Amino acid sequence: MEKIIKSDQVWRKLLNPEQYRVARKKGTEPPFTGAYWNTKAAGVYKCACCGLPLFDSEHKFDSGTGWPSFWQAIDEKNVHTQRDESDDKIRTEVLCTRCAAHLGHLFNDGPAPTALRYCMNSAALKLVEIEAGAE
Ligand code: FE
Repeated sequence: MEKIIKSDQVWRKLLNPEQYRVARKKGTEPPFTGAYWNTKAAGVYKCACCGLPLFDSEHKFDSGTGWPSFWQAIDEKNVHTQRDESDDKIRTEVLCTRCAAHLGHLFNDGPAPTALRYCMNSAALKLVEIEAGAE
């Protein structure tokens, strides 16, 4: 996949302050505050920075955490994971493969069939809804 690389200055111009803080500076939105933690609409969650499709609403579940949560990515190639030792914890960070946006973290306590929990920040995502009745 071809990477999208932009300077910090350019990202700051393209994104709103919360998107920039979360996606480019590895921030975390407070739980139960983001646009999508309780969203049930059908559609595709794309990267807020580059538009790459990341998650499908069909794989979204109510984790009770206050962050949008998915049990699988739309395509494993579209998300990149790496070890994160920040905040005195060992976690698995999830990033957009194409533009390296910080999306959130991956945990192993999700539902069947994968037992994965992609714990994402709404600010790093943009939901493109499928219109009712559209094929
Ligand atoms: Fe991206």
